[in-house]
Amino acid sequence: MSKYHCECGGLILPDFDSFKLGDTVNCMFETHKPLGNGLISVNQRAFTGIIMKISGDDFDIKSKNKIYDLKRGEFTPADAPGPIEYFRIGKCSCSDGIDENTLPFI
Ligand SMILES: [Zn+2]
Repeated sequence: MSKYHCECGGLILPDFDSFKLGDTVNCMFETHKPLGNGLISVNQRAFTGIIMKISGDDFDIKSKNKIYDLKRGEFTPADAPGPIEYFRIGKCSCSDGIDENTLPFI
């Protein structure tokens, strides 16, 4: 159990205001592929990257040789569960003030 696992079974959100340049973060890359008949295949891939640039809520995250343009809340600190885990397990619902920090994709 890490400090991000709550007894309610949900995951506690990290502090999205604490990111600094050079931090390693967990990111999620989502691709949508149409399969025909109105079906869409959603593929989620986790990766780690390094914060290269911060301007307001826009971040440039470098992973391997690519730069990803991500918004605050779309990635988590290296010691926290990755966005895919928040997506699949769900966030903790018993802490106060959680609404201001909601991940945009949950
Ligand atoms: Zn909880």
